[in-house]
Amino acid sequence: MIRTLFFFLFFSFLATSLSFSQSDSDKNTVNKEKIKKQEKKAEKERLKQIEKENKEVDSDEKQEQSGNYVPSYGVSAVKVADSIYMLKGKGGNMGLCFGNDGAFMIDDQFAEGTDAILTTVGFFTKKPVKFLINTHHHGDHTGGNENMLQKGTVIFAHENVRKRLIIEASKKVQDSINKVYEKNLEKFKKDGANEERAEVSAKRTVSELESTIVLSDNLPMITFTDDLTFHFNGEKIFVFHVHNAHTDGDALVYFTDSNVLHTGDVFVSNLYPFIDTNNGGSLDGYKAALSKILMVANDETKIIPGHGEVATTKDVKYTQSMIDFLYSRIAYHHLENKTKEQIIALNLTKDFDDKGFGNGFITTEKFFNFLYDDVVRTYRDKRRRK
Ligand SMILES: [Zn+2]
Repeated sequence: MIRTLFFFLFFSFLATSLSFSQSDSDKNTVNKEKIKKQEKKAEKERLKQIEKENKEVDSDEKQEQSGNYVPSYGVSAVKVADSIYMLKGKGGNMGLCFGNDGAFMIDDQFAEGTDAILTTVGFFTKKPVKFLINTHHHGDHTGGNENMLQKGTVIFAHENVRKRLIIEASKKVQDSINKVYEKNLEKFKKDGANEERAEVSAKRTVSELESTIVLSDNLPMITFTDDLTFHFNGEKIFVFHVHNAHTDGDALVYFTDSNVLHTGDVFVSNLYPFIDTNNGGSLDGYKAALSKILMVANDETKIIPGHGEVATTKDVKYTQSMIDFLYSRIAYHHLENKTKEQIIALNLTKDFDDKGFGNGFITTEKFFNFLYDDVVRTYRDKRRRK
């Protein structure tokens, strides 16, 4: 009996412990399954989230069949060669070349755009932007310099770009110093100081201010006068200066192996050009620079203009003939003693306006006035010399 009881107890113990271990393993299985289910659920949710994000991005971010990348953040990329893209955003067209050596950029638009630009660069390469060229000093091409320098990018430009950036920065500083001076002068006068004492006090506050000012942290580190060549990403990149064209610091960048030319604002596609005579630009220099483009480029060259869409030598020739046509017609009518209003009434620009040439920064009126003033000046000087 005791034996039976013992066996009974033993078996029931065994059964219990078995059932225990059974239920333990059951529990483990259940737990594992639970975890698996939870993981699956989390995974599903994560996928859903990614899908949702992709959908959101998809609305303004697409990888086009052509290889063009149209991301959000207002920056888009147009494929020009295998590893060369034109980046478009809020300022002048940028160039991007990437490969084993890293990224090489041309221009950097405005400071607010740097994050978006670098996000776009990151889509093509995880390597840093090692070198950057400023095609000239205008803010829509150099505005991101400070940010890029902070990230360790080395910036190159023609020496006049650096000079003009320094001049612009000092002008800004001087303007704000003048404002502070005027404000303080008024304040000292209001507080009862006579003119002389107020001036002395105001000057003192400003001189203290002047001593603390750091002029500029957006300057190209390396400057050149005529040209320079990069050997980067298996490509020979030839950078050359053209004299007094859009400004006095223009540089063009030619990727000799890929046959891609970035012109900066020395050429703008399907738009009236801006010739910045206040910053060393000139009509003659501009025309000479267009000729230089046609010497460097051939019919297959992909041209990234400072503004507008990717172009070819055909477009450059069209701009050349547009300038020559308008200039000679305006000159002809001017020498026929027609007034400015009479020449405007002839609507000489019509064909180009219809193509959208006046829809950019330089309107039809601005470009007409520029050419007309040049004509008047040129023929007045010629008459004087006679
Ligand atoms: Zn410009």
